[in-house]
Amino acid sequence: MVIIAKPKKFNLRLMVQIFFFTLIALISVNKTLAATGMGIPFLSTASLHALCPFGGVETFFSLVTTGLFIPKTQISAVILMGLVFLLALLFGPVFCGWVCPLGAFQEWIGKIGKKLFKKRYNHFVPTKVDKVLRYLRYGVLVWVLTVTAVSGTLLFANLDPYHALFKFWTGTVALPALILLVFITIGSLFVERPWCKYTCPYGALLSLFNKIRIFKIRRKTETCVSCQKCSRSCPMNIDVCRNETVSSLSCISCYECTSDRNCPKAETLLVQATQKSPQVSIAVVAIVMLTVFIGGIVGSMALGIWSSKTNDQGSGGKNNGNGQKNKVEMQEEVTD
Ligand code: SF4
Ligand code: SF4
Repeated sequence: MVIIAKPKKFNLRLMVQIFFFTLIALISVNKTLAATGMGIPFLSTASLHALCPFGGVETFFSLVTTGLFIPKTQISAVILMGLVFLLALLFGPVFCGWVCPLGAFQEWIGKIGKKLFKKRYNHFVPTKVDKVLRYLRYGVLVWVLTVTAVSGTLLFANLDPYHALFKFWTGTVALPALILLVFITIGSLFVERPWCKYTCPYGALLSLFNKIRIFKIRRKTETCVSCQKCSRSCPMNIDVCRNETVSSLSCISCYECTSDRNCPKAETLLVQATQKSPQVSIAVVAIVMLTVFIGGIVGSMALGIWSSKTNDQGSGGKNNGNGQKNKVEMQEEVTD
């Protein structure tokens, strides 16, 4: 008997995740290479903090109140913050589900966990404990924004697992960040995206857009056969099958539940603005997302607004957006 293997369905989200992960990894390596004069031409050597939209959130208070960026951040982070907010308003936290390299890293580690624990994977934390823990990230968000506003420095950088992931080999990462990264890596073997679920301050902020996003995930009850495959496919343990509209704060807009890899009934889980409006395909979501990101960056470069050059080559201190210190605030030695 000849067994014909089913062709694997194309995973667009995985392609986008690999693209952004590789890009950030290359920029990180290039920064080190550039210091030795062997940098890759045409590739950015920016600080990872200047390319992180959460850096934009952290520096925003300082920018509005004093007109200065906190050390390691730049206008690039503020522009990225705006682009991510725009996308979140349209489709929810697509940054978390499609772009964030730390999110992708946890998912990839999770694939090992799925192989090891099969159906038990992502179900180790008791529901009651899980419910309480999900509030933790809002506390982290308030704490990070408060200490950053009060201190005028990126104190969170010493705990930042995203920075640790792409810089662990440089010897410049603070020990607490490295320890946190190890915890997240081990945790991802048992729980899908533990950092996103319980601790990420940026995920907490973006989660609020789930309540106001224009395009929501809707389940057509007429065609749904209640097989629960959508709920089982959700990395954030959302019971999609029991909702007509997904409005959970935990949704990361990965759209795994809507994929035909998971829901067997075509046109049952739809991305729509209203029940009567036309559905938006995942390919369209991806195209809009990439257009907004790439178009926003290229557009701001063309307008001369974009800059990712920070004052991180020596001692810190707030900068005025030209990468120059304009205060003698020798607050910290910046090594990123
Ligand atoms: S509800 Fe769907 S889009 Fe939201 S996190 Fe779960 S699988 Fe992803
Ligand atoms: S996977 Fe599709 S058919 Fe199955 S319960 Fe979810 S929405 Fe209904």
